Amino acid sequence: MNFDTPIEKIKFEQFDFFVKRDDMIDEFFSGNKARKLHWFLTNDIKNINKIVSYGSSQSNLLYSLSKLAQNRNWKFDFYVDHIAKQIKLEPKGNYKGALEFKANIIEDINFPKEKYVAKKQELFIQEGGRDKRAQFGIKILSQELKNWIDKNGLKYNQTKIMLPSGTGTTALYLQKYLKDIEVLTCCCVGDENYLLKQFSMLEKDNKTYPTILPRAKKYHFGKLYKEFFEIYNKLLQETKIEFELLYDPIGWITILQYKKENPNTNIIYIHQGGLKGNETMIDRYVRYIKNRKSGFVL
Ligand SMILES: *Cc1c(COP(=O)(O)O)cnc(C)c1O
Repeated sequence: MNFDTPIEKIKFEQFDFFVKRDDMIDEFFSGNKARKLHWFLTNDIKNINKIVSYGSSQSNLLYSLSKLAQNRNWKFDFYVDHIAKQIKLEPKGNYKGALEFKANIIEDINFPKEKYVAKKQELFIQEGGRDKRAQFGIKILSQELKNWIDKNGLKYNQTKIMLPSGTGTTALYLQKYLKDIEVLTCCCVGDENYLLKQFSMLEKDNKTYPTILPRAKKYHFGKLYKEFFEIYNKLLQETKIEFELLYDPIGWITILQYKKENPNTNIIYIHQGGLKGNETMIDRYVRYIKNRKSGFVL
């Protein structure tokens, strides 16, 4: 696994950005989940024979944890509220990949989620990998960023790191370790209050929180938006880099606005991987567009 990923200069909509290519870390543990699970990947973990976690049946964490369990020869139980019929009939994306790695995906709306108490020999990981042990990998990411910023002579107060948030674990810990370099983020899963609550579950001191940039409008996580697919395609065309379709569209819409208002600030955008999830998202977008053309609006 190659953690020390390159930082590339790109031009998007006539603005310069830098992109930290964490999508290139590994095929199974790319981007965000590779950083958050770094501790679990490299440390000697004793007296565990099973991972227990929960979340959505298409989550990137499901896929990465299934590979981790396979590598370690552990069992893996992953609880979901619901699996769509179509996905059960014809598995795709993260769900399919996880089944191939022998994940035991269980539909149970009564699973206690964050309140679950791990049994003996179980390793319980919260939804989205919100875990204090995520600091291990994120600290390394912060050092890579700082080294690159120093090497290229960028000023700390004119350089910002941008990454879109789910649980906010990555942005929170990055800000903790980067200290005098500001970390910018935006909410993708819930609103600003949701994200602040997520931060507070890991860190009480709000002085070290990253900056949450305002979103142009309210989006519902996992829903399809025309402007998301448009910016995904535009990024692919102009930068030749594929981004993912749940977090990155909001990330790029938000940071583009910020860059227009602060053209002299250097932005390092962290590509957090997640491309395995695009398989199902692109399918959904293609179907959506086809249905719109035939006059059927979803
Ligand atoms: C999990 C994930 C995120 C969200 O990370 P948090 O640390 O929960 O904020 C963002 N982007 C991708 C691609 C992810 O897989």
